[in-house]
Amino acid sequence: QTFADLGIVEPICRALAAEGYETPTPIQMQAIPSLLQGRDLLGLAQTGTGKTAAFALPILQKLAHDQTKRTPRGARALILAPTRELAIQIDESLAVYGRHLHLSHTVIFGGVSQLRQVKAMANGVDILVATPGRLLDLMNQRHVKLADTKILVLDEADRMLDMGFVNDVKKIIATMPRERNSLLFSATMPKSIESLAAEILRSPVRVEV
Ligand code: AMP
Repeated sequence: QTFADLGIVEPICRALAAEGYETPTPIQMQAIPSLLQGRDLLGLAQTGTGKTAAFALPILQKLAHDQTKRTPRGARALILAPTRELAIQIDESLAVYGRHLHLSHTVIFGGVSQLRQVKAMANGVDILVATPGRLLDLMNQRHVKLADTKILVLDEADRMLDMGFVNDVKKIIATMPRERNSLLFSATMPKSIESLAAEILRSPVRVEV
């Protein structure tokens, strides 16, 4: 099977080919068709399985297809990650996979000045990658609004809970539209993650690799 067989469009396939991606990984095969259909997803997957592309490719494709609904301020998709390193990696992957698309993305995380991040958000972005603490800070200062953000990814959700971000994550999600497409990835599935998933996801497809 190829990425095209999974329903991925040519400009993205071309970017993947240039990166040397020949065949989709198991999580990509399981997740991509359902995500292109707009299903919610609960993914049990470790780093190294190709989970970033599994969620990034369908999001890029859906947003590229739906340029008309572009809002000047609010992001159209939010990807939450537990650490700045992971957030930066995800943002870099979006740049690689989306190089032939006309979509904007930015990353915000704590421990650095917020000025550049505030400016990037003021210009408007399609996809926002963020760590929960800094995002909530910027939301409380009204630099970021999620009222039009209809796609949500929680990556490494178990680590986010371990790091004490559960209340921040819940506050962030409470400001998003109820009608949205939500994805949760976790390397482990303790009860706390099951209940978070039950709260956030609607009839999710479960994938496990
Ligand atoms: P991830 O699990 O998302 O951190 O990805 C792990 C590594 O696999 C990254 O370096 C990706 O660039 C790479 N990768 C993801 N999907 C594929 C694929 N289908 N073919 C080859 N490499 C891939």
